[in-house]
Amino acid sequence: MTIDPTNGDPDPFPGRWPPNDPAIRDALLAAWESGDWGRYEGRAGAEFARKLAAFHHAPHVHPCASGTIGVELALRGLAVRAGDEVVLAGYDFPGNFRAIEAIGARPVLVDLEPDRWTIDAESFEKAVSSGPVRACVVSHLHGTLADMTTICHIASRHGVGVVEDACQAVGATVQGKPAGTWGDVGVLSFGGSKLLTAGRGGALLIRDASVLQRTVIFGERGNQAFPLSELQAAVLLPQLARLAERHADRLDRARVWRERLTMEDGPFDVPPFERGSPAFYKLGLRSRAPAVEVLEKLAARRAIDRPIDIGAGFRGFHRRGAARCRRVGGLPGCERAASHTLLIHHTALAGPITGCADEADRLTHALRG
Ligand SMILES: *Cc1c(COP(=O)(O)O)cnc(C)c1O
Repeated sequence: MTIDPTNGDPDPFPGRWPPNDPAIRDALLAAWESGDWGRYEGRAGAEFARKLAAFHHAPHVHPCASGTIGVELALRGLAVRAGDEVVLAGYDFPGNFRAIEAIGARPVLVDLEPDRWTIDAESFEKAVSSGPVRACVVSHLHGTLADMTTICHIASRHGVGVVEDACQAVGATVQGKPAGTWGDVGVLSFGGSKLLTAGRGGALLIRDASVLQRTVIFGERGNQAFPLSELQAAVLLPQLARLAERHADRLDRARVWRERLTMEDGPFDVPPFERGSPAFYKLGLRSRAPAVEVLEKLAARRAIDRPIDIGAGFRGFHRRGAARCRRVGGLPGCERAASHTLLIHHTALAGPITGCADEADRLTHALRG
């Protein structure tokens, strides 16, 4: 038996995820008919790599198994070795800290920009001026975009390699360039909740052939150890074709959410959508009250009785001890982000735009009353 949570509504709020796009069904059927579903390499894999490169104007694309392994592969591609330092924000995807540790390198934590979830350039410059920093991981998180112009400028002056984690921002434009193409290596994710999804999967956008070569050699174990499969590539192709259109729809809806949630002394701040055209994997809200309290209140009032996906942000690394990482300054921005971030999944940026306005008002009322 299949359960349809939308009761057959053709345009439900929140939107369906994954999208029930007939083009995806056709892609799966085509893979079945050609037999490519059972091959190591078929047409879709090659076509996807080519189209992803063209979409980003990227010299090289290296598809891989996930965004998580992608960050480690990127660091290995940049020849980061045991004992090197790698800078990242003290509030980031947990796997990024682990990727650095997996190589035996040492994480160096820097602060976030005030009121955003992106790395602070001043804190970053302090970090790279004060230790054997080899590379950095810069993430675009929760709908905010990092200041890549400034970060890349500082990094290049100090000979620091840049891994741009664009897992949440596939298809975004940052300061006039596609997200993921600013760094030496850009990392994309096609995980089950992400904007382009194959359930699992990822890709690296690589500028330099020698970086690509090191990445490929690391993963080559008689066979590729961290592959993207033919079937995954097949379902990604039709989604890539519609990505720009879906971004435009999500941006319209994110604007409505922002407008409603930030009306005169509402419970949240939503940073302005600036530095380019963001992508909304999750819409980040900066809550005035601690996020756990807000979630408890919503649960107690049964405000979340419809399946809108709202949750807390990352836990952050600011509490990790000096044995595991170096810390630059006090990281107050990271601390605040870890305790006061709420995230709304992009299904709430699909479906009718009136649904977004109603839902935003419902949230605000539940927290006021
Ligand atoms: C999801 C995510 C990843 C990891 O991607 P997976 O494909 O899920 O392994 C890495 N970084 C950020 C910022 C993410 O949001």
